[in-house]
Amino acid sequence: MASKRYALVGKDCVSCGCCLKVCPIGAINIWKGVVAVVDSQRCVGCGRCAKECPAGVIELMERRAEV
Ligand code: SF4
Ligand code: SF4
Repeated sequence: MASKRYALVGKDCVSCGCCLKVCPIGAINIWKGVVAVVDSQRCVGCGRCAKECPAGVIELMERRAEV
């Protein structure tokens, strides 16, 4: 079953890469060296990336129930 939450990276990401290192499933990549992008389908919503982000730009979003 899919997790209830997923991480979303805000536009002020400074591409430091800290979030990549703590994601247990490797669901985050740095897109073109500019911004971190979470694979929301794979993200399990653990929140580690959000705690680690020095810029505080990662939010955990509630998944909408799929109809
Ligand atoms: S919430 Fe957890 S699984 Fe999802 S991207 Fe962040 S560290 Fe990875
Ligand atoms: S830890 Fe935060 S600032 Fe650093 S790459 Fe990840 S989202 Fe961007």
